[in-house]
Amino acid sequence: MSRLHNFSAGPTALPLPALERAQRELVDCGHGASILETSHRSKTWMELQDLATSRLRRLLKVPDTHAITWLQGGASHQFAMLPLNFLSPDRSAAYVVTGTWSQKGLEEAKRVGAAVEAASAAEGGFRDIPPPETWTIPEDAAYIHLTSNNTIYGTQFAQLPERMSAPLVCDMSSDILSRPVDVSQFDLIYAGAQKNLGPAGVTVAIVRKSWLESAREDVPLILRYATHVDKDSTYNTPPVFAIYMVGCVLEWIDEQGGLGPIVQANEAKAARIYGLFDSHPEFFVGHALPRARSRMNITFNLPSSELEAEFIAAATEAGLTGLKGHRSIGGIRASTYNAISEESVEALAQFMEHFLATRG
Ligand SMILES: *Cc1c(COP(=O)(O)O)cnc(C)c1O
Repeated sequence: MSRLHNFSAGPTALPLPALERAQRELVDCGHGASILETSHRSKTWMELQDLATSRLRRLLKVPDTHAITWLQGGASHQFAMLPLNFLSPDRSAAYVVTGTWSQKGLEEAKRVGAAVEAASAAEGGFRDIPPPETWTIPEDAAYIHLTSNNTIYGTQFAQLPERMSAPLVCDMSSDILSRPVDVSQFDLIYAGAQKNLGPAGVTVAIVRKSWLESAREDVPLILRYATHVDKDSTYNTPPVFAIYMVGCVLEWIDEQGGLGPIVQANEAKAARIYGLFDSHPEFFVGHALPRARSRMNITFNLPSSELEAEFIAAATEAGLTGLKGHRSIGGIRASTYNAISEESVEALAQFMEHFLATRG
């Protein structure tokens, strides 16, 4: 078997042991049927779902004040669900715009009610994260929305803010479980699974139970967080296979020894690539300012677009895939999520060194 070094932004590499477990269990997950054939009302399913939920709760240290629920529609669906639930007509929502995804979130909120930019990194080309001291939060803010890691531009909050004057909401789609987070500071955290947690098709939401009580009620039941929390994520048929795969990925994290070793590996991987930027800044031109560098999506340019095209073609040839930058910014992007191994990152670093030596 020869697997590629996969640096795609998502869907992307999953841990091999998680894939192999799913492969072993695909036809019979232990009760004479596949998980694909298992009712979401069965005891077998509820045990598997509860196991995934409790693993996530333990790994991310989610306190009892918060509920965990499994949803569908991706993070994009959360962009709409959030204001529908929590943006009342007499208030406004504040968005810290640090990239394409936060812009999309703001756009959806504006379709529901009043929503404003608390700060924006657009002017500087989304290379930095505006520090909280510079944010303008309306006095009546219904909530403040952040994007912890900007998948497209390759910037990340080095440190997440603590509770502010209004409930704090964070889209953690591309860095959830890549580092410890103080969940108690947030009223809602959501993340599509296909970057760092598992396959596409499921979105996790971690919501403060007391905040749910202030949610709007004039919203269709299917769009209410409370509906899904009250019905234990089985108000309607959940994406059982996707949640099962997330469970397999969380099991793999446990087998690695928990979040600690994952965080260490993520730091080492990012340091290896950013080290090349720092020693050859004229050739590997990082998009993010050093203080805002993402550990999950490493974005850079080479001295010319011809060299970039050559780099991507030669990398593909060498078994390094998914390196083309997002169409909105071009250049090169290496995504180094939890499941991307240190060996893969070392292969990329050596490829970069070789490319520099021959084409620099
Ligand atoms: C990928 C991504 C999204 C969009 O996810 P979908 O599942 O395609 O809706 C939103 N926010 C961030 C930070 C992302 O990385």
